[in-house]
Amino acid sequence: MISNRIGRLELSPTLRINAKAKAMSAQGISVIDFSVGEPDFPTPDNIKDAARQAIDKNFTKYTANDGIPELKQAILARFKEDHGLTYRPDEIIVSSGAKQCLYNFFVSIINRDEEVIIPAPYWVSYPQQVLMVDGKPVIVKTREENGFRLTPKELKANINFNTRALLLNNPSNPTGSAYTREQLAEICEIAVAEGLIIIADEIYEKVVYDNFKFHSVASLGDKIKEKTVLVNGVSKSYSMTGWRIGYAAGPRDIIAAMDIVQSHTTSNANSIAQKAAAEALSGNQSEIGRMVAEFSARRNYMMSKLNRIPDVSCYQPQGAFYLFPNMSAYYNSEFGGMKIRNSYGLSYYLLKEAAVAVIPGSAFGAEENIRLSYATSMDAIEEGTDRIIEAVSKLKESPKYKRLALQNFMTSPKRNVESKKDITLEEREALVQEAEAALPFDRYFEWNANINGIIIQLRTNVPHLYEFWVENWYPAQLESDLEPHGIIYAVDNVPGRTPFAYYHPETRTAVLFNTSYYGQIRSWALGMVAEASERTLNVHGLRAACVDNNGAGLALIGPRGMSRGTALLYLLEDKDIRFLTNDWVFVRYRGHEAIADAPERKFYFKTSIARDFSHYARIFDRSKCENVVTRRADWTNLKELTDECPLDLGEPYCYWGSKESRAMVDAAWIGGPHKYIKRCNLKVVVLLCHEPNAPAVELLKPESALEYVAQGKYRLPSETGMTPYQTLPFFNPCILGTSPDQEDLQRRNYHQLFRVTKAYKVNVAAIPREALKARIRDLMK
Ligand code: PMP
Repeated sequence: MISNRIGRLELSPTLRINAKAKAMSAQGISVIDFSVGEPDFPTPDNIKDAARQAIDKNFTKYTANDGIPELKQAILARFKEDHGLTYRPDEIIVSSGAKQCLYNFFVSIINRDEEVIIPAPYWVSYPQQVLMVDGKPVIVKTREENGFRLTPKELKANINFNTRALLLNNPSNPTGSAYTREQLAEICEIAVAEGLIIIADEIYEKVVYDNFKFHSVASLGDKIKEKTVLVNGVSKSYSMTGWRIGYAAGPRDIIAAMDIVQSHTTSNANSIAQKAAAEALSGNQSEIGRMVAEFSARRNYMMSKLNRIPDVSCYQPQGAFYLFPNMSAYYNSEFGGMKIRNSYGLSYYLLKEAAVAVIPGSAFGAEENIRLSYATSMDAIEEGTDRIIEAVSKLKESPKYKRLALQNFMTSPKRNVESKKDITLEEREALVQEAEAALPFDRYFEWNANINGIIIQLRTNVPHLYEFWVENWYPAQLESDLEPHGIIYAVDNVPGRTPFAYYHPETRTAVLFNTSYYGQIRSWALGMVAEASERTLNVHGLRAACVDNNGAGLALIGPRGMSRGTALLYLLEDKDIRFLTNDWVFVRYRGHEAIADAPERKFYFKTSIARDFSHYARIFDRSKCENVVTRRADWTNLKELTDECPLDLGEPYCYWGSKESRAMVDAAWIGGPHKYIKRCNLKVVVLLCHEPNAPAVELLKPESALEYVAQGKYRLPSETGMTPYQTLPFFNPCILGTSPDQEDLQRRNYHQLFRVTKAYKVNVAAIPREALKARIRDLMK
């Protein structure tokens, strides 16, 4: 399982757009790419020659961890010549790109929960890197009227006890805005007076226009320099992105810490690239001027084109090679069925309609804008901007719609946690004590559920779990009046505990730490009730979807992956068929009758069914949900994702982007109140299987049916063909309790079930999906 740390991160959106653009190019569509983040010029020849010489001289071994002396001297000389700055060699470190310098810095400086102020729009990796070290990015939105520059007031308002560092990216990616000396000094003086460290990413320092005079933060005075780490590199100025050389300059102790981090991650940057970078920094600098002149012409041309689009304002950048127009005037528009609601939707539209790749502003913390890079040929800029103008002109205002606020909760983790289901009484006592101690009186929820006559109490500090619990079950008496038959502690935010679940069978006590996922709470509750009611009431807890057809009940039993849910939904489309449960009934056997009761008040549905059964989406819109995907980073159904994911189209959420998302659904919403009944008389049991060479439908003798469910052996169809047999006795992962008579109890119950019902094995491998409903219906006749 992936760590929580990574769970908060997003794959670079640039990579995603690039991948889509490439896929379109592979289909023969000529995509114009404005998404690139690197100069489109070749690395100058003198630099390439230096690399060749390094190879010829076998300069191909590990070097000093923090960079070769020759390159450090070139860096020192550049700082001196360009900014009058004096550093010592031990105040410099060479890394594999400016990106690595930044990461080394955050690892070296930021403790857990310490804050880093990041002005937005920001370069995508800053907040992500701060999250990677468990720090807290504090995003401060700057305004276009202020040239996207942080103001002293905005800075001051965001400093507190936990603030550790201020990040300044000057000139900025994505806005291209840059600070004058005065503006920079004002900000940096405040930061230093407040004891912050300034991390200044100056990688675009050479790419500035209209005689703009760039000033390095470290050149503002010794006091500021002592508190500043400069980050720079050869990627942009010398068209050397792939060579991966960046460098940082700053106080000796910080650089030494960064040196330690690097010594345990990558060691020295590439030896050959270091030689090439030394040549880049110390050799002839005239290529830069040529490149910037070319960029400047492109910038002017591209801006003039974009400014022709009605209602679009495009900030005129002082540096870098991006334009960042505000496109929000088009966020309530549509064309050809494609609705545009945000920067991602517009970027997607431009890619599909105009075959132009741009990056949505949301990636940079600026939803109103999109980023266009002009690091591409003038021809491409001409053609691409024409295409954008045309595509945007087709957009018509779409009727105002009411956006539904999704009632969604992202749980952590998103699925069942590991468990130990046979703890001792002593362990139970200790765990209960710990759980009780971690339940604060002012954030404590307790509720007794009546699950088919058995009372289970939930004690939790997670409002989401409480809400789902209360919606899911019928109420029992007041908590204080009653000893429950079982108890579930679900306590989140317990320090020093990894997510884990414990169960003590004799006292029916469950203790779950640091999980807010409801699915496990629900199945444990059902498992506890099944064990209690089987033992004391002779009532059978049956994990099955269940419907009724004119008084004849049908139970669908099937292991994971056997389309049980899909079969149920197809059956429900039939007007005579009524709904009992999607997952669980309690069955009492009376003579020749099997009376099945649905214990749940509301039903826990996988929201991914909305992909094939779209009317369920409208039901989920009104329901409480968990883990519904609202960010592309949370997609887990990657294999199934086509281009038509609702998030791509600017929808705020996607019901099938993850297999872990669920909704708590009112059964009466499925087909009206008459469609739902609470009790039925079971006549038919369908055992779903997936066996390529077996008959489609097979009537089983009671003994064979019992044997089949008892061993619970099945093959799981998977992406890689068929996985080996898996066994889960009685196809029920919820069975709790470890006593030896548990299995006998189950056998006895299933024996009764098959004695009074007809059992069929229905092979989903031999029946097309569309025909499944008719085949199962036939069995009910
Ligand atoms: N900082 C900024 C603002 C950038 O735009 C980039 C590259 N897109 C980097 C750092 C990373 O540079 P490098 O290639 O040296 O890692």
